[in-house]
Amino acid sequence: MKDIENRKNLGEEDFFKKISSVAYQESGCDGVSVFHCLHEKGFLKGLYKYSRGFFYEFSEYIFFEGKEYFRHSVLSKRPFWDKVSHVWYYYYPVEIKGDFDLSGFSRENIVFFRFEKLYGSKPSSRKLEKAKEVVKNGMENFYQVDFEILKTHYYQSINTLARLGEIFASSIKTEDSYKTIISGLQKHFGFDRIRFYVVKENEKKLVGAYSVDVSGKVKSIDYDRIILEPGSHRFADIVLEKTQQDYSRIYGDKVFYLPLKKENRPMGLLIFDNLLSQIPISLEEKDMLKSFSSQIAMAIDNINLFNKIEELSLYDELTGLPLRRYFNSRFQEEFYRAERFSQPLSILWIDIDYFKEINDTYGHQIGDVALKEAGRLINSSLRKIDFPCRYGGDEIIIMLPQATYTEAINLGRRLLNEIKNVMIPVPFSSNKEVKLTLSMGVASYPADALKPEELLAKADEALYWVKSHGRDSIKAYCEIKSPQGS
Ligand code: GH3
Ligand code: MG
Repeated sequence: MKDIENRKNLGEEDFFKKISSVAYQESGCDGVSVFHCLHEKGFLKGLYKYSRGFFYEFSEYIFFEGKEYFRHSVLSKRPFWDKVSHVWYYYYPVEIKGDFDLSGFSRENIVFFRFEKLYGSKPSSRKLEKAKEVVKNGMENFYQVDFEILKTHYYQSINTLARLGEIFASSIKTEDSYKTIISGLQKHFGFDRIRFYVVKENEKKLVGAYSVDVSGKVKSIDYDRIILEPGSHRFADIVLEKTQQDYSRIYGDKVFYLPLKKENRPMGLLIFDNLLSQIPISLEEKDMLKSFSSQIAMAIDNINLFNKIEELSLYDELTGLPLRRYFNSRFQEEFYRAERFSQPLSILWIDIDYFKEINDTYGHQIGDVALKEAGRLINSSLRKIDFPCRYGGDEIIIMLPQATYTEAINLGRRLLNEIKNVMIPVPFSSNKEVKLTLSMGVASYPADALKPEELLAKADEALYWVKSHGRDSIKAYCEIKSPQGS
């Protein structure tokens, strides 16, 4: 049957149009109709009809009730004749093989072709045989094409799985890992919208990460913060699996919630919706997304771990202050900005006085407490744009963007006073408390230096001056270089 082209290019309706028009011509009948057999419901349902050059959808229902001969003939799946008033009907069943569900066809796919002869005698059996041949071969094609479609679909799915797997695995190191995941999913599935929430265990919250729309545009939804407790929000209930309601019943199959869990620990939530287009999310898509859930949960876990490690390697555990390598990179950036926008930048270099003595007298642990207290005090006295750092040992450097040396000196003086109120209790000692004093040196861009290393060296020089002139004080580089300073 050469006339019937591949259904892939035709679509179901065109396919039936072609097959019934050819069968119509071969049979010499007055009409050919196509019925879907829903025997479990007790009727045949009309799908399409071809008659006198016209093809159309039609909705005739033929109920078996009260027509035992008809019911029996349909169930036996054999061709049979029927006559209603002056019209002869010849029903010819074709089974569509395969175990899949396309275009609303149920698992047992039987289609009846009905040849209709209006007046006079039955159609000639020779012509009918030819028409049946047309239908039979044509429907074989239907089956084969469906199989092809299914096969392509299957390979596409496998491909999608593999590619998304790569995305999830590679996203461990990316800064925008969540973005990568959500746009990867959108690229492959193309929903109206996907929203991605991540569980923040320490905050006990479900926090919005990103949303992506049908155009592929990714937006941050970090303003969306949901308390992770039963009853606080339906998203929380779904993640905690405390939901009493079946949300899919409310939104139908246009929304799909995918809770992400790792070893029973809730990690996040993905929400897929087609609320705009009203296209149902298929079972196949849901199954595929479900198969990704543990991979995505694992990716979140890895990202959390990675962030933790990164944080640990950037910050000093004892004082909570950034470490030298973190400072160095920020310092370069800020210095560049100061140069570019012609703004001042000051460095305040702090060193605890006689710290070694504290260690030697009261022990390392007390020394640690002293360092921690100094760190706490400094951290609480800074502006948002200031950047402190534990430079090493008992040395702390504060970078002060947009601050002149006078402003740096003012901050330093405040710290010098405030540290005097810090008492470090010493158990089992005649001296109940240890007090700290600090020495500080200040240097400023552009007044004292035009290069970052030079600026640090000048602040260090100023600090050295204070150390060698009695400690517990502060000096700016410009002061020690001027006649009053030296
Ligand atoms: P100066 O007034 O001249 O600064 O004298 P100092 O005793 O403070 O001398 P210095 O700054 O050279 O000594 C730093 C000491 O800090 C030496 C080292 O044992 C101690 N130290 C460095 N890191 C730590 C730490 O993490 N904890 C404790 N408890 N001590 C530390
Ligand atoms: Mg010291």
